[in-house]
Amino acid sequence: MLRAFLLYLSNKPRLGRTLDRVPLTRRLVRRFVAGTTAEAAFPVIERLQVADLLSAITYLGENVLTEAAARRAADVYLSLLDEIKRRDLPCVPSLKLTHLGLDLSAALCRENLERVLDRAQAAGRLCWIDMESSAYTDRTLALYEALRPRFPNAACVIQAYLRRSADDLPRLIGLGATIRLCKWAYREPPRLAFVTKREVDANYARLMDLLLTPEALARGAYPAFATHDERLIARAAGRARELGIPPEKFEIQMLYGIRHDLRTRIRDQGLRLRVLVPFGEDWYGYFVRRLAERPANLLFLLKNLVRP
Ligand SMILES: Cc1cc2nc3c(=O)[nH]c(=O)nc-3n(C[C@H](O)[C@H](O)[C@H](O)COP(=O)(O)OP(=O)(O)OC[C@H]3O[C@@H](n4cnc5c(N)ncnc54)[C@H](O)[C@@H]3O)c2cc1C
Repeated sequence: MLRAFLLYLSNKPRLGRTLDRVPLTRRLVRRFVAGTTAEAAFPVIERLQVADLLSAITYLGENVLTEAAARRAADVYLSLLDEIKRRDLPCVPSLKLTHLGLDLSAALCRENLERVLDRAQAAGRLCWIDMESSAYTDRTLALYEALRPRFPNAACVIQAYLRRSADDLPRLIGLGATIRLCKWAYREPPRLAFVTKREVDANYARLMDLLLTPEALARGAYPAFATHDERLIARAAGRARELGIPPEKFEIQMLYGIRHDLRTRIRDQGLRLRVLVPFGEDWYGYFVRRLAERPANLLFLLKNLVRP
C-alpha cells in the first residue's frame, strides 16, 4: 500500500521541486545520489576502482519534454564516456530511453542511443539500457533487439515482477545478450506484474536459473544479477559453483548507497560486483523509488522532518 503510494508520488515531479528546498531531503538524497554533477560522481567511481569494484554511471533524468533536453542528455553520456576512457575506469553508462526522448519520437531516441552506443563501442565499453515502466517494455526491447547486431556492446534489462519476462528472457538469451535481471521499481497492475515480494522473489529465482545455465552462457549470454537480496546473491553464487560456471561469466550489481556492508563480502568470494552510481539534478523519481523499496527510509525522513 505504502509502496504503491510512493510509486504514485514518483510520477509527480512538482513535489520534487518543493522537496528540493528542504535541507534534510537533500541530505537523504545524497545517500543514494553521488551529487548533482559528474565531477561529484567520478571520485566515487575512482574509490570503487581502488576497492576492486566495477561501476556504472547514470545521469539522472527521465521523460524529457523537449528534443533539446533529449539531445543534451545524450551529449552528457558522450562526455561521460570520454572521461571514463581518459581516466581508464572500469565503468559503463546505464541510461533510460525516456531520457533520450522516447516519449517524443522513436526516431529521435534511436538517433541519440546510436550516438551513445557508438561512442561506448569506440571506448570498449558496454552501455546498459535501463528498463522503465511496462508502457515502455515493448519499445525498449524492440529497439535493443534492432540495434544489437550493430552494437553487441548494448546491454538490456529484464524485470522479475513482470509476468511477460518468462517469455522475453529466453528470446534474449537466444541472442546471446548481456542481461541485467532486477526485481521491480514501478507501479504495475496485477494483470501485468506479480504483486507480492514472495512471488517476485520466486520469479527472480526462476529467471536466474534460465540465465545461469551452461547452454545460455555458451550462446554468449552474460547475466548481471542486480539485487541487494543476500539470499538471491548467495543463490547465484551457489548455482554457479554447482554448475562449474567461472565467476567472470556473470556479475552482481548493486546501487550506490545500498548495502555497502555486502560489497567486500561479495568481492572476497571472488565474484564480480558492479555498483551503479547516479548523479544529476533530476533526482526526484529515482529517489522516491528508493524510498518505496524500503519504507524504513521514509520513516527516517519523516522522523527527521518533525525533529525540532
Ligand atoms: C544496478 C541496478 C540497476 C537497476 N536497474 C533497474 C532497471 O533498469 N529497471 C528497474 O525497474 N529496476 C532497476 N533496478 C531496481 C531493482 O529493480 C529493485 O528495485 C532494487 O534493486 C531493490 O530490490 P532488491 O533486488 O534489492 O530486493 P529487495 O527485496 O527490495 O531488497 C533486499 C534488501 O536490500 C536492501 N534494500 C533494497 N532496496 C533498498 C533501499 N532503497 N534502501 C535501503 N536498503 C534497500 C534491504 O536490506 C532489503 O532487505 C536496478 C537495481 C540495481 C541494483
